[in-house]
Amino acid sequence: MNRPSLYFRDEHHLFRQSVRQFIDTEVVPNTDAWETARRIPVSIFQRMGELGYLGLPFSETYGGVDADFWYSVVFLEELARCGMGGFATAVSVHEYMAVNHIAKAGSDDLKNRYLRPAIAGEKVAALAITEPDTGSDVSAIRTTATRTDEGDAFIVNGAKTFISNGTYGDFVTLVVRTDPNAPRPDAGISLLVVDLDSPGITRTKLNKIGWHSSDTAEIRFDDVRVPVANLIGQENRGFYYLMESLQLERLVAGIMAVSGAQLALDWTLNYLNEREAFGKKIGKFQAIRHKIADVATEIEMARQFVYHTGWLFTQGEVVVKECSMVKLATAEMQKRVVDTCLQFFGGYGYIEDYPIARAYRDVRVGTIAGGTSEIMREIIAKIVIDAVAYKAVY
Ligand SMILES: Cc1cc2nc3c(=O)[nH]c(=O)nc-3n(C[C@H](O)[C@H](O)[C@H](O)COP(=O)(O)OP(=O)(O)OC[C@H]3O[C@@H](n4cnc5c(N)ncnc54)[C@H](O)[C@@H]3O)c2cc1C
Repeated sequence: MNRPSLYFRDEHHLFRQSVRQFIDTEVVPNTDAWETARRIPVSIFQRMGELGYLGLPFSETYGGVDADFWYSVVFLEELARCGMGGFATAVSVHEYMAVNHIAKAGSDDLKNRYLRPAIAGEKVAALAITEPDTGSDVSAIRTTATRTDEGDAFIVNGAKTFISNGTYGDFVTLVVRTDPNAPRPDAGISLLVVDLDSPGITRTKLNKIGWHSSDTAEIRFDDVRVPVANLIGQENRGFYYLMESLQLERLVAGIMAVSGAQLALDWTLNYLNEREAFGKKIGKFQAIRHKIADVATEIEMARQFVYHTGWLFTQGEVVVKECSMVKLATAEMQKRVVDTCLQFFGGYGYIEDYPIARAYRDVRVGTIAGGTSEIMREIIAKIVIDAVAYKAVY
């Protein structure tokens, strides 16, 4: 029996059951294969496309489901319960970080050429902001897009790094500098959709501590020709589109961090009831019980804050402060929780056969990717100390 909820209705609960079944039967059994291969197969994107999972927030006009936000929350929570950070990242980046820019500000032509196949799982998308020389300071990006003399195309030069879905993905939402003479650096940035098999693109897969099934890449662009029709929204407005979308990106990260922490706790609760020491189950030791009580409390508090922020988001509120707090608090919380949980597995926690070991490797990047904890604190400090106000862009 589900408890009453401000957010979820019976339909959401039914949807959760079907996503959980999909994850348990079609994703989890492949964990070792995909982690070892350092990639996930295209067929799983196609399968999720068939099931409608990749089009939840998007218009039916382009094959989407146009489902309310809470379906996405359910999907992301269940996605994180696969226990494979790399897979969860690949899917969430595709749907909620790369393609959403096209859905929000792209032309009808772009939506037909890229959003539609992305929803169907026929094309996999990446988002490329970070460069070898700059990550946190997005306005300092150096990758240029210069119009040709004929004016029908941009020529792109530069490099991006740490790009999820960058090695095997089909296209990228690329952050480029289109006006090097703009009065402020952030006023000269645009978003382009670029096919990743275009001539002049070189992709190099990166070796990571965790998120093994995610194909993170460095991507070089040498005189890559991109049609002007692939510009998303207005030229030189890209920085503001990005900043607005970061709210959703950080909310998505928070939803998955809480669910990932809950999963680690669930594994640990099972283990506490199995493992014995000094003649009793280790779950009977008060030192462990109190820590578990703290962990459960932290997770529940974070979950409710994420839900509340999600609700504000659905009301059209500017939630820069709350989303930054969500990203900061949940990423730091998940790191603490997974570390504490691993401790209670004793030596087995350090053995790769146990999922908690993978969770420990995967969780470390949470306070870095999608904006570091330091940057989240900077944003929050600007709002609460300097009273900086953010406005809606779209
Ligand atoms: C596995 C993985 C996947 C990723 N996926 C993507 C992706 O798909 N697309 C994409 O564009 N990027 C992606 N990233 C990049 C990620 O978003 C950046 O790594 C992150 O934003 C930090 O940038 P940086 O690495 O350049 O660090 P830097 O900006 O160089 O920061 C280095 C250190 O300095 C600190 N610092 C910087 N500025 C300040 C400040 N003002 N105050 C206090 N401290 C500061 C940072 O917090 C950090 O600790 C990914 C990264 C990883 C590791």
